[in-house]
Amino acid sequence: MVDVAWIGSPNFYPQNGIEKRFITLHWMVGTLRTTDTTFSSSSRKASATYGVGPSAIHQYVQEKDYPFSDGNTYANQHTISIEHEGGWLDGNGNRVAPSAAVLENSAQLCADIARRRGWSSLQWMVNVFPHNHWVATMCPGTTDYGTIVHRANQILGASVLAMAGVNGGTSVAQGWNASSWSTSQIQTALIKLGYNLGATGADGDYGQLTTAAVRKFEQDQGLSVDVGTAGPQVVGRLAQLTGDATPLAQSNKLVVDGKMGLLTTKAEQRALDVDPDGVRGPNTIRAEQKRTGAFPDGIDGPNTRERLQLTLKALGYYGGKIDKIIGPQSIRALQSALNDGRF
Ligand SMILES: [Zn+2]
Repeated sequence: MVDVAWIGSPNFYPQNGIEKRFITLHWMVGTLRTTDTTFSSSSRKASATYGVGPSAIHQYVQEKDYPFSDGNTYANQHTISIEHEGGWLDGNGNRVAPSAAVLENSAQLCADIARRRGWSSLQWMVNVFPHNHWVATMCPGTTDYGTIVHRANQILGASVLAMAGVNGGTSVAQGWNASSWSTSQIQTALIKLGYNLGATGADGDYGQLTTAAVRKFEQDQGLSVDVGTAGPQVVGRLAQLTGDATPLAQSNKLVVDGKMGLLTTKAEQRALDVDPDGVRGPNTIRAEQKRTGAFPDGIDGPNTRERLQLTLKALGYYGGKIDKIIGPQSIRALQSALNDGRF
């Protein structure tokens, strides 16, 4: 593997102790050199963990830290992001795909990351995602992620089965932010795939039957089985198998009125997978804090409100001042994000 050159960027949050779960692939819409310039500017508020060119790999953010790369708090917390040189317009108005040399360097880097983290293989939509899985964006364009994953697995000596998900990649890639599916979306997908959720069906309540069904699904799909919570691995695979990548059903949509009423609270709770009792108590606040990257102490203080506003802003729903006051404008942003299944 080519040496990794440390460039550094002011655009990151220090983050100790949150385990990185996946790699997100991007393209630069430029070269390694222009990316160095962009990421070294604090006014651009952009970064990635790595940038890969045809003959060099640059590092901007430490792997353990939170890069400003994915436009999604959950993703930034759990990702190692890799930018690929390419994506600019050629003379004919076509975007230039990352070259074979870039793909090879990226595969070497991905394999190295996997090896150091004890991942036996790279699995598309399980521990490698395209940027447009997390937010609506053209990134990573025509980056040939199939080649990157396949080649990295060759280097790792992993089974070609790890590539099974790649054929579904294009359709899944349109399902941006699948990790923030509501409980009822997860339930609907499980039912569609024949899992038994009992008489209550997709009721939005993440109870014992849903937990058991998710655990069974994890086993059936050969995913690592943890505690039956539907993280990005599960949701990514559900989206892939059902073709569901859509936000909340129209009938569940909130009226965007800027009022933090019972329905909005319950919708937020469902999105956060906490008991939808309509009371914004410590459990709900803690779940919201985890989603937005605030310290999870269950207390709705200024930092918590700031993180909520920053998250809604990063998602493109909040255009107001970061004033740490959750007023009608912030609540309207939250309601819209919930309606789109993006919170
Ligand atoms: Zn990107």
